Amino acid sequence: PGFFASLVSIVVEVLGDAFPEVRKDPQHIMDIINEEEQQFLKTLIRGRNLLNRTIDKLGGVKTLPGDVAWRLYDTYGFPIDLTQLMAEEKNLLVDMEAYEAAKQNSYILSQGKVSSKTDAINLDVHALNELQVRNVKTTNDSFKYSYVPKSTDADADYEFSECTGKILAIRTVDKFVDEVHSGDSCGLVLDKTNFYAESGGQIYDQGVFVKIGDEANEFLVDRVYNKGGYILHIGVVEGTLKVGDELSLQLDIIRRRLTMNNHSATHLLNHSLLQVLGPDTDQKGSLVVPEKLRFDFNAKAAMTIEQVAKTENYAREVVKNNIPIYAKESKLAVAKQINGLRSVFDEVYPDPVRVIAFGIPIEELEANPTGDAGVKNSVEFCGGTHLKRSGHIVDFVISSEEAIAKGIRRIVALTGPEAVKALKRTEVFEQELNNLKNLISNDKDGSQSKEFLKKIAEMTEDIAHAT
Ligand SMILES: [Zn+2]
Repeated sequence: PGFFASLVSIVVEVLGDAFPEVRKDPQHIMDIINEEEQQFLKTLIRGRNLLNRTIDKLGGVKTLPGDVAWRLYDTYGFPIDLTQLMAEEKNLLVDMEAYEAAKQNSYILSQGKVSSKTDAINLDVHALNELQVRNVKTTNDSFKYSYVPKSTDADADYEFSECTGKILAIRTVDKFVDEVHSGDSCGLVLDKTNFYAESGGQIYDQGVFVKIGDEANEFLVDRVYNKGGYILHIGVVEGTLKVGDELSLQLDIIRRRLTMNNHSATHLLNHSLLQVLGPDTDQKGSLVVPEKLRFDFNAKAAMTIEQVAKTENYAREVVKNNIPIYAKESKLAVAKQINGLRSVFDEVYPDPVRVIAFGIPIEELEANPTGDAGVKNSVEFCGGTHLKRSGHIVDFVISSEEAIAKGIRRIVALTGPEAVKALKRTEVFEQELNNLKNLISNDKDGSQSKEFLKKIAEMTEDIAHAT
């Protein structure tokens, strides 16, 4: 636990009477504070490096340039008063006039036709053609699969292999350039990458590229797309980057791991729904992000509470059994024969195609495609980044089930720390409900009915807003 979270118990003690809310679920408050703190420390370290480097270069000058202060805010999320404080510690003043000017300038730029600075960066057919004419090779992104769990235990962390890449092309809004500088938004095409480009419902990776040999130059990766085999990393530059530079590619592994949990759980949910709703259930879409997963499927009617519970329990059972998850490229013609294999109906799959199977090695499925192993286990075509064991999902909770169109339902589900938090909240609600029941049954003459009604309304509200 972080420093701020360790103060929660004291706050509860001191302020619990005045603010009963804080008593309800201190652990939940601590979790949120820890997440915030972790996120902020990441920002702080990167921003402080930039600040220190800038200060080193100032020599005897006692003013910190305003454009640096603005970039600290715009790129790293550093509040200006924090920059001022840190500058003051070194006996420096921030050039606030230049800071305001840089801020105004940035707003004017973003009010143009382009909604966000990076939105317009893309590789259209002309850009792709240009890359081919210039003989630029497509990106080898197989390194996105280079990771191993530290153990088979359910709470194992993952180790992600280091990866380096060379800049082959730099794309701005309308052209390729050879060099980019601090504050520039652009897209980088590298020879290799371990970053996952958005695909198959799974969101892209984020992280930082640092120039090897000169860490003052870096690139904050905001979005990643696959354009005709070229992986385009879109983000903002700090320092100077040139075509030919070698970069160390530092993945945001917390984000990636949460996304992996949710992707593997999406396959599991797909399989669980088949068990509960029958073989006519088909996937109609999915979204896999760090916070949650979303799964759309066809159904004639809303699921009953029992069906939702059954689906959730089936998935949780597989998580508890902590079975291996296998991934392997297979010949499309062979893989298509696997009995029970799930694929999205109108999707065109590559050959060879990647197969993800829970609990059964792909080689066994290939050797005996007509057997029922592919029916009993989750087997899907998928290029996503998956966990190596089902237990690493940690826990699985369905948080909602609703209609999104005629005949199409949507489930939102949680895994890992989000699922644990949701279960904790459920426990708290249950406890509150039981307390209330006791109070009501003890209130024989009904003198406190009004109070209870108010409390019930409050709780209904709380539960409706819980995820
Ligand atoms: Zn998938």
